[in-house]
Amino acid sequence: MSGDYNVNFNFLHRICKLVVLLCLVHISVTVVFYVRSLDIRFAFAQNQQSPYHVTTTNQVRNSDAKKEVTAVVQPEPHPEEKEIDQPVKNLDKCPETSPLLVGPLRVEFNIPVNLDQIKRDNPNVQPGGRFKPKDCEALQKVAIIIPFRKRDEHLKYWLYYLHPILQRQQLDYGVFVINQDGDEIFNRAKLLNVGFVEALKEYDYECFVFSDVDLIPMDDRNTYKCFSQPRHLSVSMDKFGFRLPYNQYFGGVSSVSKEQYLKINGFPNNYWGWGGEDDDIYNRLASKGMSISRPSGEVGKCRMIRHDRDKQNEPNPQRFDRIAHTRETMYKDGFNSLSYKVVKLEKFDLFTKITVDVGKP
Ligand code: BGC
Repeated sequence: MSGDYNVNFNFLHRICKLVVLLCLVHISVTVVFYVRSLDIRFAFAQNQQSPYHVTTTNQVRNSDAKKEVTAVVQPEPHPEEKEIDQPVKNLDKCPETSPLLVGPLRVEFNIPVNLDQIKRDNPNVQPGGRFKPKDCEALQKVAIIIPFRKRDEHLKYWLYYLHPILQRQQLDYGVFVINQDGDEIFNRAKLLNVGFVEALKEYDYECFVFSDVDLIPMDDRNTYKCFSQPRHLSVSMDKFGFRLPYNQYFGGVSSVSKEQYLKINGFPNNYWGWGGEDDDIYNRLASKGMSISRPSGEVGKCRMIRHDRDKQNEPNPQRFDRIAHTRETMYKDGFNSLSYKVVKLEKFDLFTKITVDVGKP
């Protein structure tokens, strides 16, 4: 009997020890994750240097981008907005590598996001999607150009993830969504050209980042700026198994300086439908003796929001022939032959939307 009792007691004793051990492990893991999340929040908080929370009375707070489109009128410039385009006085240059960066990021698309919340989370972003650091002079003035049509849901995720990242990167930046008007066949590269021209009408941008609306970087060390050579930023996309599909690939997200862009006469205007225009841009750069710079595969990881093919953006059957002739066509088709009509220019809290008629093939 007492033998049985001892066995049971020992057994219970061991179970208790195991439970206590498991509790300790659980508590340690929780503490580690909590402290790490504090780090991230602290790093971001450092970047929120302004006491201003930009709300303009004449902007309607809708969680739905479409409703906002009809309701928004040109807002009265906020005091800080007036400030943003003024020359920076007595500020030191921002460091080459921002101290606010946190590295790898979790990116997922099953969480609900809404524009009001994104705006509240980014109080230092000025109307039109403008930002510049308050404590130092940004190293580059960057226009982010997003070719767009009917992808409001994707745009919300882009704004949700990118505004905090771009602020931590200490860039002086503006976000331009170039929306193709009408239902004609899509022309990505022409929209990018329009973005270049329209952004320069607003500010002395020196660097242009061209980004698809459905691509989100997974590491904030992948700085959305320009380099001495054109930069390809979306180097390891989940869609391609986190690898470069081919060496010359320049699609997704890329950046060129104003000088690099003008050297190649901008981008082609005559790629209608899906594909080829990024290869043409690559050919232009290569023909001018430029090479592509890239972040490492680790830093360059990014996620694409899955979606069906858009209507009126079928693969362009002429693309192979066009790509084969870039070197002959690039001097007459590009920045120097660009023509379009601005249909509407809207300044939203988190981005500038320019709706354009780019014509048809
Ligand atoms: C197309 C590019 C596209 C790439 C990756 C190529 O065949 O010409 O435009 O970016 O495939 O999808």
